[in-house]
Amino acid sequence: MKLESYWLDSAPRFEGAAAVPLDSPGRVDVAIVGGGFTGLSAALALARRGASVVVLEAGRVAGEASGRNGGHCSNGVAHDYGGLVARFGAAKARDMYRDFDAAVDTVEQVVAEESIDCDFVRSGKLKLAAKPQHFDGLARTFEMLRDIDTGMELVDRAGLAGEIDSAGFHGGLLQKKSAQMHVGRFGVGLARAAAQRGARIYESATVTRLERLSGRAHRVTSTRGTTEASQVLVATGASRPGPLAWFRRRIVPVGSFIVATAPLEASVAQRLMPGRRNYVTTRIIGNYFRLTRDNRLIYGGRARFAMPGPGSDEKSGHVLRESLESVFPALAGVKLDYCWGGLVDMTADRLPRAGEHEGLLYSMGYSGHGVQMSTHMGRVMADMIDGRTVASPWVGLDWRAIPGNFGDPWFLPLVGAYYRVQDALH
Ligand SMILES: Cc1cc2nc3c(=O)[nH]c(=O)nc-3n(C[C@H](O)[C@H](O)[C@H](O)COP(=O)(O)OP(=O)(O)OC[C@H]3O[C@@H](n4cnc5c(N)ncnc54)[C@H](O)[C@@H]3O)c2cc1C
Repeated sequence: MKLESYWLDSAPRFEGAAAVPLDSPGRVDVAIVGGGFTGLSAALALARRGASVVVLEAGRVAGEASGRNGGHCSNGVAHDYGGLVARFGAAKARDMYRDFDAAVDTVEQVVAEESIDCDFVRSGKLKLAAKPQHFDGLARTFEMLRDIDTGMELVDRAGLAGEIDSAGFHGGLLQKKSAQMHVGRFGVGLARAAAQRGARIYESATVTRLERLSGRAHRVTSTRGTTEASQVLVATGASRPGPLAWFRRRIVPVGSFIVATAPLEASVAQRLMPGRRNYVTTRIIGNYFRLTRDNRLIYGGRARFAMPGPGSDEKSGHVLRESLESVFPALAGVKLDYCWGGLVDMTADRLPRAGEHEGLLYSMGYSGHGVQMSTHMGRVMADMIDGRTVASPWVGLDWRAIPGNFGDPWFLPLVGAYYRVQDALH
């Protein structure tokens, strides 16, 4: 079993990294810190408009969350919709919900415009009720949302037979606008498209210092050299390195883990998941899974409240195997080809945040629902950088530091224990 992301391992390497030294004279229009989907999407949008752009990526492009996720590109919010209405009012809650529709549309558009070969398909997402009372909750959500999302369908227990061959679920909620794709190939496709339009992309370029010159202008120091930029976009996700303490205090990096099986027999895949959806379960410590085009089962979850890393990933792999086999007993003993982990950029309320702080523009905190939103927000931030008026529900949301969070999430095991109790009780 390889301890690396299936998506990264099965995508081509990005070969368009910048050849000119970063310190070449003159100021660039925009420096982007972070080469995940947020940064690459912003770089593409800005370069298309003729701006001079550099992307500084600490590792390889789309090498962190963007290339290590479940490959679900789903619409819909992760939250209890009633809770959003109670907190923000009906109009803003609807805008938040619909922004995820727009985000999936953005990904589809980018894939089409740039001819990115990444198996993008509107697969639909099926949220599976792990307990009978969870199905009642899904039914209430359906009633609240049926006029806002006309692509929704409530599937009762009998109806699940056409979707998934597993005895463990009590019905589900289908969101048909959701899509899935090969996120490794998408990331490389985005980077290539941005580079072809003139963006200079530097890998192994950790930003270590940001000095504000005036307004939004900064001198940006990285391990590959220094540049001056009229504007800087911070697109660092669950960032660990660099001078970004203000953001770190507002984001909790939460480990999430995934295994990929060897390709299943086509007939087995068809029998187990005839719907070929993005599947998620309703538990707080739930699971997410889907098939790839070649019938691997990609099965993930917050298996342990631990940081990813080779030893940790392997332990999580054992937990995930147990879980996978309980959902699909027919796959007992299935060969696992890959196991990996990544950091989710979680905010306290699991809502994204975007805007400007002390002259730095930023977008992050997608809280496990960022494949579509990061790509979308890259475009939105490009508009903001361009001086256009943007109407994003995530811009301007109050964003306080999380008490006790100084970047190292020492409290995660406690949170994990609390969630396990909640899952057992409800
Ligand atoms: C295991 C896992 C499963 C997930 N599953 C899903 C899913 O199925 N569907 C979904 O919608 N979302 C999912 N997500 C979330 C989604 O992947 C992210 O929200 C999204 O990719 C965030 O993109 P980003 O560009 O903002 O951040 P990232 O992809 O994390 O990119 C940030 C980049 O910034 C770089 N960086 C950080 N600090 C510096 C610095 N100082 N200098 C230079 N570069 C720096 C990092 O190296 C990194 O490459 C998952 C996440 C994980 C970890």
